[in-house]
Amino acid sequence: MQNAKLAAKVESQKHSVLQLTDSVSVGGEDLLIVGGPCSVESLDQMETVAQQLSGSVQALRGGVYKPRTSPYAFQGMGQDGLEILNTIRHRYDIPVVTEVMAIAQIEAVADHADVLQIGSRNMQNFDLLKAMGEIDKPVVLKRGLAATIEEFVMAAEYILAHGNSNIILCERGIRSFDSYTRNVLDLGAVVALKQITHLPVLVDPSHATGKRELVPDLARAAIACGADGLLLECHPVPEESVSDARQTLSLEDMNALVRSLKPIAAAVGRSLPVARRPKSEAPVAMAQ
Ligand code: PEP
Ligand code: MN
Repeated sequence: MQNAKLAAKVESQKHSVLQLTDSVSVGGEDLLIVGGPCSVESLDQMETVAQQLSGSVQALRGGVYKPRTSPYAFQGMGQDGLEILNTIRHRYDIPVVTEVMAIAQIEAVADHADVLQIGSRNMQNFDLLKAMGEIDKPVVLKRGLAATIEEFVMAAEYILAHGNSNIILCERGIRSFDSYTRNVLDLGAVVALKQITHLPVLVDPSHATGKRELVPDLARAAIACGADGLLLECHPVPEESVSDARQTLSLEDMNALVRSLKPIAAAVGRSLPVARRPKSEAPVAMAQ
């Protein structure tokens, strides 16, 4: 391993706990569960997601700048999608995570979201990594499609070296020879990253498997092996997702999955933060 002097965990150093907002953190005893669609599609869609998930997850996700294999595929809602995320995070008092693909997008994304994601395809976009070092918002850095653990850690080091210490790693599967699953979820990397770095580590079993029926068991396995949380794709009507439909859970299945994590979290000394009542459903104060 090269000299990852800022990412590396030196002996006896504690793991870093990062605040996403005043009340949501990652890396401590509380797990961070992030759920939402692959792509933001409409305000209605995100309202439904927020209403049904805000009692069970700690943060919402939804891409508005989408790195798609085909230039003819849906590329994301862009600025209109950012406005939707901004509305939702304030209305439901819940942090949102969304991807930034280019330096030119950073300012607007940082103004409308709580956590910025660097996707797999940009893990070694070094100029983008350096620019992410200039902001102070948390960054979810996803492992490259075929990145070694060392390359992954050094990518995080770029952001750290440029001044941003709020880095969250995310294992999302790596390419292999078997096309049965979209990728291969490398849980060994999760354990290794927790040993060699002080950074929080999330697992994304949705992109790792590409098949919704494989997601819940791998989500539970991720928590069992020490992940600090999960990034999961879910949608009000999964089959109608404009992107990544095949790996997307229904909101009901998502909530059931989160409930099923409780005993596993407890077994490894972690907890799921107490569910909050969605802000918009808070009882109206009685007039005196
Ligand atoms: C995503 O999380 O929306 C995404 C595109 O994931 P990845 O970069 O891991 O493919
Ligand atoms: Mn996706």
